[in-house]
Amino acid sequence: MDLGEKISLLAGAAKYDASCTSSGSGAFQGSGPRGQAAGTRGRKQGFGLSLPAGVCHSWTKDGRCVSLLKVLYSNVCRFDCAYCVNRSSADTRRAAFTTTELVDLTGEFYRRNYIEGLFLSSGIFADPDIVMEKLIETAKKLRTEAGYGGYIHLKIIPGTGEKLIREAGTWADRLSANIELPTDKSLQTLAPEKSGKVILGAMEEVFRTSVQYEEDRRRIKSTPAFAPAGQSTQLIVGASGEDDRQIIALSGALYRKFSLRRVYYSAFIPVGIPGRGGIPDPRLPAIPGPPLVREHRLYQADWLLRFYHFTAAEILDEATPYLDAHLDPKCAWAIKHTARFPLEINRADYEELLRVPGIGAKTARRIIEVRRSRSLSFDGLRRLGVVLKRARYFITLSGSFLDRPDDPDRIRRRLSDSDGAGLQLPLFEF
Ligand code: SF4
Repeated sequence: MDLGEKISLLAGAAKYDASCTSSGSGAFQGSGPRGQAAGTRGRKQGFGLSLPAGVCHSWTKDGRCVSLLKVLYSNVCRFDCAYCVNRSSADTRRAAFTTTELVDLTGEFYRRNYIEGLFLSSGIFADPDIVMEKLIETAKKLRTEAGYGGYIHLKIIPGTGEKLIREAGTWADRLSANIELPTDKSLQTLAPEKSGKVILGAMEEVFRTSVQYEEDRRRIKSTPAFAPAGQSTQLIVGASGEDDRQIIALSGALYRKFSLRRVYYSAFIPVGIPGRGGIPDPRLPAIPGPPLVREHRLYQADWLLRFYHFTAAEILDEATPYLDAHLDPKCAWAIKHTARFPLEINRADYEELLRVPGIGAKTARRIIEVRRSRSLSFDGLRRLGVVLKRARYFITLSGSFLDRPDDPDRIRRRLSDSDGAGLQLPLFEF
């Protein structure tokens, strides 16, 4: 098989992994030799950007789009995870790179400004330590022999020993161990060779080692960085029966316990297994398409966990185990707690402002700063970034209302996606 075919096959096999964006990472912000972003370049004339197969686009913390070469080392896998196109029982073409091929390819793509980083994962074609050694060898050669200073994200192969996890973090910017399914029961059904305990153990090792390196660096300045862009994981949504409450509770615990930079939610894509006439595995649910709205709401709820100081139990409870498909989770929470509103903007503290729909973390900080020196008006709030379309039901300004939080049903109707307030803005609105 020639290199072009390998790229196409092994990049296609990697595309279902959502956990490779560099969001939350400072690695692309010029913070050192690994952070020298080249910038995505298009053609000089005309428009459009033609990039080779395997290049995916991701976003940095500051919203910039970056390109990663996202490939598997090999799509040969001993495991038989029901939701995966690379599972051992799938009758699909198999291939593997050599380390030299991957090093040359990454270097070449980087020099041509096709990519700003590498995301490298693999099927489990041998003992987990042997597979992990191949990924580490690639990263190490890139750094030490090819002089590569770009971003590297390595997947931790389930079952890898602690020593190799520690070594991986010395060459990679980010590490990730995909937990995939929220409970052991689901793992046993859909990914019987995987163990939640082993995956969580890998996350704990990354966390422990990061803390250790951090402490060492305080004493010895020359201590090298360990996975400076932190660790992330991916959860597949809709392949098993867990509700949103279980998923958000797990994410909350992972952020708390292991300081994860990101949890990615990937709507289960009911793909047929190649070579079997597109027939899906019978252990999987028969759904018409990926649950994208659910995935979108989970990302919004995750945002509340990471930036708005909500706990998982505040977002969903036993009586409400699923996120509202028509309301973003912050609006849903505020409507459920109308007794806490309206909030007087001139007196509310930062934590209270964060709870108001239409007020983000940056805007809350600006309000507190500006109100020290001058009085605010509703127009002034708008200029500071407050989305009054949402906030109007929950705030007063020097005692004046724009609207009243007296009828939760009415507010719900006004804020639900049907009037556009809860949805992302459409690109083309006629
Ligand atoms: S371990 Fe499971 S999810 Fe990973 S490549 Fe193998 S079959 Fe796919």
